[in-house]
Amino acid sequence: MLRLGLAAGAIALSFAIDGGIFGAVLALFVIVVPFEKLYPRQKGQRVRRPMLGTDIGFALMNPLLNVFGIVAIVVIGGLSLLWLPGLAVRPLVAQIPGWLLPFVAFVAFDFLGYWAHRWAHEVPFLWRFHAVHHSPEHMDWVSGFRIHPFDGVLIAPAAFFLIGAGVDAEITGILAVLQIVLGIFFHANVRVRWRWLDMLVANPEFHHWHHANEADSIGHNYAPALPQWDLLFGTYFMPRRDSGRRPTHYGVDEYIPRTMAGLLTYPLRGTREQVSLLWHPIRAAKRVGRGTRSVLRDVQLSTFRPTHTVRRDTAIGCSSTNGSLFGDLAEPPGHPVSPNRSVGVVEF
Ligand SMILES: [Zn+2]
Ligand SMILES: [Zn+2]
Repeated sequence: MLRLGLAAGAIALSFAIDGGIFGAVLALFVIVVPFEKLYPRQKGQRVRRPMLGTDIGFALMNPLLNVFGIVAIVVIGGLSLLWLPGLAVRPLVAQIPGWLLPFVAFVAFDFLGYWAHRWAHEVPFLWRFHAVHHSPEHMDWVSGFRIHPFDGVLIAPAAFFLIGAGVDAEITGILAVLQIVLGIFFHANVRVRWRWLDMLVANPEFHHWHHANEADSIGHNYAPALPQWDLLFGTYFMPRRDSGRRPTHYGVDEYIPRTMAGLLTYPLRGTREQVSLLWHPIRAAKRVGRGTRSVLRDVQLSTFRPTHTVRRDTAIGCSSTNGSLFGDLAEPPGHPVSPNRSVGVVEF
């Protein structure tokens, strides 16, 4: 009863922040579901599939969750100091004609989005947050909303770089919104792929393969909209049309909670023991420093790993940490990990 009350309160608050969210979710349902019925990727998938309520909850609470996300973005973007090199290239950007600037910004944003997404998979600490987005076992009109508010804040330094470089904050905002709209389309249960354009522009098939939990597809198709980044950096995966192969299994092998509260707190597992550190600020600062160095090392590993090797998208046991910023923490009991999900670098 208390839980239900809290959920109702949170949705009401979300509604107060952005009164249009209920209408937007309804409009999505009315527009996208008929397409899913006409051109389904997974035939026979019912609209009322498991965890539908959880995903609608994420959609309705999106504005409220975004408030937390935006606070994190401003803090991380500001602290990242990436706006400083942005300021350095400002005179160069000023030379770009006004009509060309949105296109250049789009390509730059997509490039930075590719790397932020790749690190979200290949850096164990970041995967903790991104695993929530990969947990749906059914892809449809609403599953793309299952995103942890702190997942994707890595795009913040990129946005700050662009703003520092003199790209209008408005253009950066429009690009971010465009990504959300495209995201909804890419997750829908629709049978859409282009022919020769597949390598030029992302489509639902491209992103469905990104979500597919199949041995050879894991760790591919990171680009938000331009698959050329995947082609360039060796992470493109799109079986030939005539092979008839289609993504069949989605989700992750690790334990993922099924409720919204469980999903929101999932990335923070194991950190409760660290609360005592609040009384020891020097020790806490040292641990955070060590954790940050380990995250940066993982970013470096992901960036410079040989092409055509894939770091499996799991945090547990991967690399030097198990994904905790605080160093080696035991996974809480009762979180079985599938033995077939190996870790580390896998060659194909
Ligand atoms: Zn992903
Ligand atoms: Zn996705």
